[in-house]
Amino acid sequence: MARLAYQEKQRKQCFICEKRRIIGITIGSQFMCETCERDVVSTDTSDSNYSFYLHRLERLKVSLPRHFH
Ligand SMILES: [Zn+2]
Repeated sequence: MARLAYQEKQRKQCFICEKRRIIGITIGSQFMCETCERDVVSTDTSDSNYSFYLHRLERLKVSLPRHFH
């Protein structure tokens, strides 16, 4: 039970696919899962998915702790 809770705590929500995963990278305050990281890297700029990832990556700016408005 304690072990399960520990594992659950390790999970972070991926800001691209919004699934909760354990393995991935953290960029600033955002977490990107291993699958998405691989997808972003392998996606060509001419690919239709690229704009989707680019749009998602825009969230990084939005999530910055300080706002300069
Ligand atoms: Zn993901």
